[in-house]
Amino acid sequence: MDNIRKKLFFIHTYGCQMNEEDSEKLSGMLKLSGYEKTESKESADLIIFNTCCVRENAELKVFGNLWILKKAKEKNPNLIIAICGCMMQQKDMAQDIIKKFPFVDIIFGTHNAHMLTEYLNTVKQEGKSVIEIWDKEKEIVEGIPIDRGSGIKGFVTIMYGCNNFCTYCVVPYVRGRERSRNPEDIEKEIKELISKGYTEITLLGQNVNSYGKELSPNIDFADLLRRINKIDGIERIRFMTSHPKDLTFKVVEAIRDCEKVCEHIHLPVQSGSSSIIKKMNRHYTKEYYIDLIKKMKKEIPDLALTTDIIVGFPGETEEDFSETLDLVKQVEYDSVFMFLYSLRKGTPAAEMEDQISDEVKHERFNRLVDVVNEICAKKNKEYQGKIVEVLVEGTSKNDETKLMGRTRTSKLVNFTSDEDNIGKIVKVKITKANSFSLYGEEV
Ligand code: SAH
Ligand code: SF4
Repeated sequence: MDNIRKKLFFIHTYGCQMNEEDSEKLSGMLKLSGYEKTESKESADLIIFNTCCVRENAELKVFGNLWILKKAKEKNPNLIIAICGCMMQQKDMAQDIIKKFPFVDIIFGTHNAHMLTEYLNTVKQEGKSVIEIWDKEKEIVEGIPIDRGSGIKGFVTIMYGCNNFCTYCVVPYVRGRERSRNPEDIEKEIKELISKGYTEITLLGQNVNSYGKELSPNIDFADLLRRINKIDGIERIRFMTSHPKDLTFKVVEAIRDCEKVCEHIHLPVQSGSSSIIKKMNRHYTKEYYIDLIKKMKKEIPDLALTTDIIVGFPGETEEDFSETLDLVKQVEYDSVFMFLYSLRKGTPAAEMEDQISDEVKHERFNRLVDVVNEICAKKNKEYQGKIVEVLVEGTSKNDETKLMGRTRTSKLVNFTSDEDNIGKIVKVKITKANSFSLYGEEV
């Protein structure tokens, strides 16, 4: 009986959309080789942890969950356990893991994820574990099947890696240098998504504004947006992430002109203090950033803005922090992702003096949260009484009778409507708003 049953795999993805997208590829490859996906770890024959190391707590979660797997492996010795992703690219990490968790069968990194099925065959046929990490990126591997979750919104990677080396960040070390995909490959993938009924795509890259630098013939991100905007069948185009130093006026014009490109920019500022921004190696000032926002708001009137902020970067004084609070109040973000600075070994910031105590970090973080929540509530209240276009994603978690979806500006809306509308764009009148979401009725 066991031979007839399809083998089941379970993937736990930690971290960002890039990792989500990588997991969709792992899933695509496994399905092609006869596996089936399960949402229950207990029934799985293969468990994969696709890890993140951008902050320490992401790593701690992986370690914690590996201890739990030890018991699962004792119960079922045939269970195959694989670990991959960003954490594995760090120096000595794979060796440390195999020492602490010798029951792990496969360890691979971000650059050799396309080899998964080969590694599985080695484990199954030769009964030995595989540890293989490529320390450098190679050519982009095209044509890997992608098993996407929703049939409505899809991620499309346009570039891999990062060249920026912000002093706090491990990404350039674990994801390698920038490589852009050819526009033809991107277009082909988008057309496949459309043929499967997808209506919204999000273009992904660590710094999408440096798209195309190494490609020939010449193409930049603004050109790419205009090209994708012409593809029939997509309703909405989003992108992330943008680096303020590379967001040109040409890109702002493209967002303004392309009717499918949504009025939302995620523009991480990280700090409002120019001297901290400098120590972060981000190459802009508070004034430049605010000026950029003003220019963008002028060109794109309904623009929604979101950002990332790190609290407690080494050397951050009370004065630096008050610059951050001031910037947040000036810009009036629609939403802010806030992080406590986390020391990452091997990055320049880890070696900086004046590391900030946890107590001060938490105290500042809480103050920032209060300011942000107040602003976001105010921004959301502006929607009350308005009629907005919502792409319906599914039923709302809060209330089974309601649906949920997002506006073009990426606001979450819970509203009453017919389930037949899932996947469609409907008009909704906003009746209520709080800091995190909007409520309304279909009109
Ligand atoms: N490439 C994107 C996002 C990279 S990681 C960008 O440049 O914006 C996502 C977010 O994690 C970053 O924007 C930053 O705010 C946060 N982050 C990265 N390293 C961190 C660290 N060491 N401690 C705390 N937050 C960090
Ligand atoms: Fe990290 Fe900076 Fe690159 Fe973003 S741009 S991934 S924060 S190094």
